[in-house]
Amino acid sequence: MRYLSGAMTKTTVDVDASRIDRREFLWLCGATAAILGLGEGWVPKIAEALEKAAVQRPSVMWLNFASDTGCTEALIKANYPNIAQLILETLSLDYHETIMAAAGVQSEEILAQALKKGGYILIIEGAVPTKKGYGMIARRDMIDIGKEFSAKAKAVIAVGSCATWGGVPAGNPNPAGLKGVRDALGVDCINLDLCPVNEAILVATIVDFLLTGKVPERDRFGRPKIFYGQTIHDQCERRAHFEAGRFVERFGSKEEELGYCLYKMGCKGPMTYANCSKVRYNDRVSWCIGAGGPCIGCAEHGWVDKFAGFYERLPGVAVPGIEGVEAGADKIGLVAGAATAAGIAAHAIATAAKGRFKGEPPERGVKKE
Ligand code: SF4
Ligand code: SF4
Repeated sequence: MRYLSGAMTKTTVDVDASRIDRREFLWLCGATAAILGLGEGWVPKIAEALEKAAVQRPSVMWLNFASDTGCTEALIKANYPNIAQLILETLSLDYHETIMAAAGVQSEEILAQALKKGGYILIIEGAVPTKKGYGMIARRDMIDIGKEFSAKAKAVIAVGSCATWGGVPAGNPNPAGLKGVRDALGVDCINLDLCPVNEAILVATIVDFLLTGKVPERDRFGRPKIFYGQTIHDQCERRAHFEAGRFVERFGSKEEELGYCLYKMGCKGPMTYANCSKVRYNDRVSWCIGAGGPCIGCAEHGWVDKFAGFYERLPGVAVPGIEGVEAGADKIGLVAGAATAAGIAAHAIATAAKGRFKGEPPERGVKKE
């Protein structure tokens, strides 16, 4: 975490020691355009919007509520080229209690100043306890802090499934009454589901907001359709195996080695809406199914209980060549959630952009292994 070991002021993160150069900057703009389903013609516009923002330094307040800070980890551990740096060098991350140097009274002063000023982009990580006394910061309930800060924000982004609907801490029996930002605070936020959030999606969302000044079109769960408009199943590299009835039935088997479909190992890809196969994780190296694990459906609201039995087969999906038809996997996905014509169209554009995003980033002295 280069920029964390560097100098930090009490309110911002200093990234001077690790500035991204022009080639990397343009590559990141291109990668972000691809995630947003925009053509190459948008790269200069994205670059211009970011350069303008780098002068104005829009304020970002990042509040942590009930979570394991996994989304922060996902953001700060991205490292080559550091997509998080794009945020840190463009925006003014004025408050993030996990990574800032300020603590105690000093951090409360920063919060008070920001609140007085208003107009920041508010990012919330973690679920909100709706029962009083179950989650407090500086002797105040998280729900009260969240309401106060969301009222003065120009945009609210809930990152990760804890913030979007409650996530792992809201699993049954949920004694703290944990809920997502939208339900607990009653605010219209952009929900970036996934556990943890994919940092590339977060950056693309912020860039989109800087470009348009508007929140993106969203589905009924508050998720941007451009990222969550199509099922994992429809974008899966193992889909041909599913259609041909070639399945892994046991880990350690030859079928697993051959990369067959993981549906019988509990894959929830047919009813999960997200673009993980495109944006991938760990610097775009791989993703759950690519790494050999079934999708556990972490982009869906309620997945912790709804999809429990992560290695158990999803009922109601027709398995080609093996069983009678109950409902096609595509139909299951449609019933589960959010596919729309707009989403499908967006997916088509995103698919066209896929090659560009997966292209290698520019060389940067240290070669990626
Ligand atoms: S069931 Fe899972 S592994 Fe199989 S094609 Fe669908 S998403 Fe991919
Ligand atoms: S592939 Fe499935 S389990 Fe993995 S991050 Fe995406 S939605 Fe979550």
